[in-house]
This record gives sequence, structure tokens and C-alpha cells, in this order.
Amino acid sequence: MKTESFDVISIPAFRDNYIWLLRHGRLAAVVDPGDAGPVQAVLAREGLQLAAILITHHHADHQGGVAKLLEDHSVEVFGPGAESITGLTTPLYGGERIRPFGAFGAAAEAGEFQVLAVPGHTLGHLAYVCGNRLFCGDTLFGAGCGRLFEGSPEQMSASLQSLAILPETTEVYCAHEYTEMNLRFAAAAEPGNPAIQQRIREAAVLRARGESTVPSTLVLEKATNPFLRCREPAAIAAAKRHGCAGEDPVSVFAALRAWRNEF
Ligand SMILES: [Zn+2]
Repeated sequence: MKTESFDVISIPAFRDNYIWLLRHGRLAAVVDPGDAGPVQAVLAREGLQLAAILITHHHADHQGGVAKLLEDHSVEVFGPGAESITGLTTPLYGGERIRPFGAFGAAAEAGEFQVLAVPGHTLGHLAYVCGNRLFCGDTLFGAGCGRLFEGSPEQMSASLQSLAILPETTEVYCAHEYTEMNLRFAAAAEPGNPAIQQRIREAAVLRARGESTVPSTLVLEKATNPFLRCREPAAIAAAKRHGCAGEDPVSVFAALRAWRNEF
């Protein structure tokens, strides 16, 4: 599978969302178009034809633009079959392989996406992997993870583990610019971790220039994201200071996530 068969355009939306537009020749697929306007503006600017919509989960800031996009473009909508998704044509549950550009005759070159079930933030939440790119919605964030609106700590912990075993060079295209806020928490959870301090400095430089901290890489997340580091002694100690009774990774994850909610 060719992994460089499409490039990725970041479309900022709302206050801190990212809609990801995948460009393959003159075709485009969008991931989590919470707002149609900015997507249509990029399609027009770049002269692209919308070929597919991929949805990670049902929250309005991820699918609120689908209805409007479907008024102008008759395309396949991939998304969680377990959730209420506007215009859903291809319900997915995890384990499938999809070719979003396939209906437009670009199947072989445009790559195959692997669909992963990553429940936790919502119960039907999906992640999409193509080559070294991961589109993970609100599951894994830069130095953080999504809130548990619907799922249990067990589910989210397992979902994050299923992402953590992807190749370390995997680029993490999450759906929000939360990295700096998350890094403040990461530094509190692991005060002695120099990789977190370095990432804080790097993120500050990027944000001061008005640039995105996303995508990150899995190797960076594994070094700095406390929710992927629940077996580290410092994370375990921090969890214990915040009411964690056990040392197992799920208990540590649950305690860190609860602490993060109030941080
Ligand atoms: Zn969400």
C-alpha cells in the first residue's frame, strides 16, 4: 500500500477543532466535518471534488457539517454504525477495511483505511488508519485523551492501547488543538519527565507562530502522554496521590483521567 498517495490539509474549525481533508489528485475526503463552510472554502480554493466523508463519532462538532455537504455532494458517508450519524451510508463497527476514494475509480492508488473500534469518549467511536497516518477523533489527543462521556476507563484504556501498538512513526491526526493545556497536566503528572518539558517548549514556539501542534507522532505521545504511560512509576505515584488504590494500568488511567477533569 502506498502511504504517500494523499496529502492532508488541516482545516481549523470552531475554536479549536481540526477537520482533516485528504487530497488525492483532484479528489478529497474529509474527516469529521463539524462545519461545512470551511470545508467548502478549501474544496473551492483547491479545485477539489468531494469523494467521501469519514466520521469518528456522533458529537456535533464532528458531524454538524455533513447535512450541508450532502446537499452539494452525493458521497459515501463512513462512520460508526452504533451511533446516530447524518447521512450514514456505510456503517462501521471496527475491523473493516475501507477505500474512501474507491467509488471514484482511485481505489488502488488512494490506499486502504483500516477501521479501529476505540470506545471510551463515545461508545461507537472509530479511528481510521492509512499507512502511517492515524485519524483518531477525540480518543487520543496531543499529550492527552478524550473525556469519558459514554465509555468506561477499561474501554478507553484498551482503546488507547490499541492505538499505542501502531508503528511509532505513525502520525496522530486528532480533532482538537488541546496540546498545550494537556501538557500542563502531563507535567503535573510526571514532573521529572524531561521529554514533557521539551515538548512544552516546542509547543509554545509553534503556537506563538500561530502553527498547529497536530499531527504529532506516536513515539512522541508514548514519551509524553500520561494516558499512554500508566505503567510508569511516576504516573502510578501521581495517581496514588489522587486517590488511586491500585497500581494496575486501568486503575491508574481512571485516576489520572478523573484528576484531569478537575485540573
Ligand atoms: Zn467528541
